[in-house]
Amino acid sequence: MKCAGSIDVRDIDESGINIDPIQVGGRLTADAMKAIIAYGDGYSVCDQCRKPFRLDYIKTPPVDVFHRDLARFVNMDIARVVPGARRGFQAVADAFITPGDPVLITALSHYTEVLAVEGRGGIIREIPKTGQNLITADAAAGKIEEVTREFGRAPALLFLDHFDYQYGNCHDVGGIIRVAHQYDIPVLYNGAYTVGIMEVDGKALGADFVVGSGHKSMAAPAPSGLLATTGEWAGKVFRTTTAKTDVTGRTFGIKEVSMMGCTLMGVTLIGMMASFPHVRSRVKRWERELSNGQKVVDALLSVGGTIVRSEYPRKHTLSRVDTTGSFDRVAQNHKKRGFFFSSALKERGITGVIPGATKVWKFNTYGMTDSQAEYLASAFREIAGENGLPVTG
Ligand SMILES: *Cc1c(COP(=O)(O)O)cnc(C)c1O
Repeated sequence: MKCAGSIDVRDIDESGINIDPIQVGGRLTADAMKAIIAYGDGYSVCDQCRKPFRLDYIKTPPVDVFHRDLARFVNMDIARVVPGARRGFQAVADAFITPGDPVLITALSHYTEVLAVEGRGGIIREIPKTGQNLITADAAAGKIEEVTREFGRAPALLFLDHFDYQYGNCHDVGGIIRVAHQYDIPVLYNGAYTVGIMEVDGKALGADFVVGSGHKSMAAPAPSGLLATTGEWAGKVFRTTTAKTDVTGRTFGIKEVSMMGCTLMGVTLIGMMASFPHVRSRVKRWERELSNGQKVVDALLSVGGTIVRSEYPRKHTLSRVDTTGSFDRVAQNHKKRGFFFSSALKERGITGVIPGATKVWKFNTYGMTDSQAEYLASAFREIAGENGLPVTG
């Protein structure tokens, strides 16, 4: 079946259980699906845009209220919508980094943070991780001291992922922010894997900036996200244009330079807004999400030879497992080689694991019902048992 022309219908989240780490928190709500059909046209949210002609002032639909709600949602003073977390990083990088400045990220940082720094000519320095794949306040302090000696000044900015994309491990963001602030280093809290799936309190953490991803964790279309900050920094990161053109003498009101005036003007914003009431309530169900994730991790651990590379017990629904000693041993002699695993999962209606991967791989149980989690847990055990691997319990 086709959507149009050569574009296939996409039904992977309707016809099976998807465990793709990057997709599960971004799946649209039914309300978002309905709203985006009506707002699919370009610049659709601009119908009622009036003076001073800026996205966050639009009253119909209530884009203005949504901006205030977003700021409150992450407990910061001011929020803007941005086309993806990465554009939030970029806006902050543009405001805080001048070429040659040292900038701190971590050994588990996302590549988009690297690109944001690189784009401004910043010099990247990483806070190392511990043997347990954690970023600690001690390591942050050590690295700040080291960089300060190297450059003769403190880093201009620190990017900090609350839960990293590789292990889904929880890092001591509160402790690290306290350390950074002792050196007057502003901190960008990267909530790509938190904002929209669990409660985030930017003020309590002491964050200078909170960035979230709409399409990763807020049930919104791509590219969408948010950048929130404090009253202290808002004027710097959201500075308004002061340009006056030479020939025509034009000026451009209160357009924000780093936002390129306006950001999300149709499906992305409307999708975020339509999902928001659901998102606001679902963050309160995080404990249940965690227990479902733990159930599946424990099922994998009951397969002899499997190792969980993420911290244990789990604090996130994204986990990294190493099945070199279990499913990969089956792959060595199986006629489908490594593909036996993804195809056995597929036969059971489970998608989102990279075809052929049997050594180290990731999955995310976010958004499952309890019975889907139980089904997934027993599917892993079944596949192991059918292929002669020892399964305990
Ligand atoms: C996915 C991800 C990003 C990028 O988010 P976008 O909204 O796609 O720009 C950044 N950081 C981390 C830790 C991520 O997991």
